[in-house]
Amino acid sequence: VSEGVLDFTVGSFACHVVPDGVATYEKETLYSDVRPDELEPALIALLNDQGLLQVPYHPLLVDTARGPVLIDAGAGPALAEEWGDPIGRLWQTLPTVGVDPGDVELVLISHAHVDHIGGLTVGDAERRSPVFPRARHVISRTEFEYWMSDRLPDDLAEMGELARLHLTPLERAGILDPIDGEQEVTTGIRMIPAPGHTPGHVAILVSSGSETAIFVADAVLGETQFEHPDWSSHLEVDRAEAIRTRRKLLDEAGRDSITVAGYHLWGPGTVRRQADVYRWDPFVRQ
Ligand SMILES: [Zn+2]
Repeated sequence: VSEGVLDFTVGSFACHVVPDGVATYEKETLYSDVRPDELEPALIALLNDQGLLQVPYHPLLVDTARGPVLIDAGAGPALAEEWGDPIGRLWQTLPTVGVDPGDVELVLISHAHVDHIGGLTVGDAERRSPVFPRARHVISRTEFEYWMSDRLPDDLAEMGELARLHLTPLERAGILDPIDGEQEVTTGIRMIPAPGHTPGHVAILVSSGSETAIFVADAVLGETQFEHPDWSSHLEVDRAEAIRTRRKLLDEAGRDSITVAGYHLWGPGTVRRQADVYRWDPFVRQ
């Protein structure tokens, strides 16, 4: 499995997959309630020596005329230490594409799970500061209010705490911008609601000239879901809605032949509907 920087272009935009690292999960965490005799063979190439599923964390950096736009921010050092996984390394890969955290103009947050937002702030609990201090940080208002609410179900309480830990300092610094519905957040970059994984989960459309790409974030949890689009995770807030969203995004991406990237995909590619499932053509074969 290669973990290099993966580049592609969309019209005049240069896009860079900037790896944050690779985490390991119990396979049933990502693909829950699947019969073991179906699950094991589908994942075999991605299992490590301990039988754990290897899952990449892949933020996307889009170079625009107005400056660098970062989509999702990695897990951050605290989660890396807690899990003992080689993650939380975005700060090392950003410079390899010529970007300093202080240069980032815009940070787009697909949703508020900690593997996507743990890299947004650093420091002690009481005095955390933004890693991207100059950037406007955009998140869906639905997402922001969901995790800020004090009525989260018990099993999501810890995730809620982590969301507040990273989002509150940005709000306090006046650089968090919750938005409603579908919006173009800068020229050529559009956030579109893609609910299910979380209530305010969004996908991001990147368009320049006649070309378009979509960052599906966690609407697709791994390449496995092209062949098995109806598998889902108990981590998803609404599993049925997550499946509907996944199918809708992949149907559209296939129909329009646009480039697809995702936070937990190993690299970009294109997708094609084939009967009731999808065929994935990665740009770089692993
Ligand atoms: Zn994720």
